[in-house]
Amino acid sequence: MLVGGNGINEAQGPHVAAMIDDDRDGKPQADGRHGRSRAKDQHQLLIAFGVVNAIAAVAVHLVAGATLPLLPFLLLSLVAVAYGLVGQAPSGSGQGATVALATPPGRDLQLRRLEGASGEPSVPVVPLYRQPNALRRHRVLDPLTDLPGRDCLAASLARLIDEAQGQDEQLALIAFDIDRMKDINGIHGYAVGDQLLRIAARRLEGIARDGVFRLDGDRFVIIRRGVAGIADAEIAAVAALDRIARPIRLGKATKQEMRPSASVGIALYPDHGGDFEALMRCAEMAVDDAKRAGGRRCRLFDRGMIVAMQFRKDMERDLLEAIEAGDLTLHYQPQIDLASDRIIGVEALMRWTHKERGLIPPTTFIPIAEASGLIKPMGTWLIHEACRTVKTWQTMGLDVAMAINISAAQLRQQNLPEIVADALAENGVDACRLELELTESLFVDPSELMMRRSLEHLAEMGVGLAIDDFGTGYSSLAYLKRLPVQKIKIDKSFTQGIGREEVDEALVKVIIHLARTFGKRVLAEGVETPAQHRFLVQEGCDAAQGYLFAKPVPFAACTRHLEEDAERYGRADAIRATAG
Ligand code: C2E
Ligand code: CA
Ligand code: CA
Repeated sequence: MLVGGNGINEAQGPHVAAMIDDDRDGKPQADGRHGRSRAKDQHQLLIAFGVVNAIAAVAVHLVAGATLPLLPFLLLSLVAVAYGLVGQAPSGSGQGATVALATPPGRDLQLRRLEGASGEPSVPVVPLYRQPNALRRHRVLDPLTDLPGRDCLAASLARLIDEAQGQDEQLALIAFDIDRMKDINGIHGYAVGDQLLRIAARRLEGIARDGVFRLDGDRFVIIRRGVAGIADAEIAAVAALDRIARPIRLGKATKQEMRPSASVGIALYPDHGGDFEALMRCAEMAVDDAKRAGGRRCRLFDRGMIVAMQFRKDMERDLLEAIEAGDLTLHYQPQIDLASDRIIGVEALMRWTHKERGLIPPTTFIPIAEASGLIKPMGTWLIHEACRTVKTWQTMGLDVAMAINISAAQLRQQNLPEIVADALAENGVDACRLELELTESLFVDPSELMMRRSLEHLAEMGVGLAIDDFGTGYSSLAYLKRLPVQKIKIDKSFTQGIGREEVDEALVKVIIHLARTFGKRVLAEGVETPAQHRFLVQEGCDAAQGYLFAKPVPFAACTRHLEEDAERYGRADAIRATAG
């Protein structure tokens, strides 16, 4: 059974046992639907008029005899009924698709009109842009969602801009991009992906007054006329976002739900542009900004986005050069076992010294690398470099584990386990000396299933897995049970609240307890003060990392830390000497 909201079925895809949209809420729908019902009423009136006229003519003829000429009345009736029937002829879509355009997108789209005696249209017939089948025939409607596309949007917007100019009115162009569509297709299959797009289209139609359009792939646009300002446009965008994000249950047999989300960008006429091209560029820039910020959010275009885009482009070009020139380096930050006080591992953190701008923080260049795909070659280099360093230290009698950060794009690389295996084999490093740190948000990603295979493969190889920045992501902890993760890293924002914020202290305690319950080791990041150190020891935290012990430093400086540690505690295998 299809479940959810008010439990009304959506069209079902062939491979989807059941997917539902809880959206038909009986609110006034888009203009197209009203237009069609008005036209339908008029056609029914014509038919009724024809029938009544014919009956009356025959009755009068019978009563009055041959004195009343019957033929002209019957002809009139015939014409009325014929027009009525022609106008009512079903469009044949059978899917109730609604094309929500406020105004015809162009003269050429209005094929049929009934002409009155004066030559002016006297009876409005369903215009073509409101006839899904006719539009489809003319390739104006997208066959998947029954929505008009980019050309219609351009024509509609041009027309609305003309009207708005005359009335000193503002328009909003609101662009939507379904988050993680690629993953949804990859995990659930294209039938589910298509179904999601159809549902998103219907959900947007349910809320858009002035037109919904599907551009390429998973990008939709709605137009809103007469917006009273930024806040008004944002309210409309957020309402649409909320609608799209309603859960969708997958299949009859499963209770599994999909929670789609979207990134939304708004551009306003006339503030951000005077024509379709300019407004569309702004709206898409705003969507991309929302996507980069993690999706499921709404952004209003602002001019700073152009500057930021140029900066990203420059950085991307320079980053590519830096990779090729070997200008990226690694710094290493020791990780301390709190029971023995020994260095048990180091975290490798990437550094980039730009030829003109100097040191660029990873929080700036890693997102650029992720968005551009450069993170893959960078990540491969990092894995090899990290293994080389472990080997070099081992030959010096310094035995530590190496933690490296892995981003979502790398984890989605199907051959990540092979890349890791190659790097380990090439350097003769044992898999247990390498630990991959993955941020918590990766685990609630819809592509989790796909990534899980990689993680399981890596875990089987003996590579360690840790959850980074724990506590900053999402509330679902189910993945702790499911995934082969051995360590949790408490985010530094909580560690730094120790001694200052009771809530943070409580959270740190809970996370330590949680880790113990699930049989995981726990490391606190960002330890800067002796008080934080004491608190963590007292609460039974396994390990710590932070400026109190050592900052991230280049290879030579980290080697000195390891040697001092070895001097103090002996050159025994540090990892075997501790619980790790
Ligand atoms: P992260 O993985 O959470 O790394 C820890 C960050 O906290 C590092 O910042 C480190 O320098 C900083 N940190 C360590 N101890 C302290 C402390 O006591 N106080 C404070 N305030 N900060 C401390 P960094 O090196 O700037 O890296 C920032 C982020 O960039 C990393 O966060 C990680 O998400 C990302 N990153 C760095 N290197 C790589 C990499 O090679 N690959 C990927 N995918 N991401 C990386
Ligand atoms: Ca990390
Ligand atoms: Ca972290």
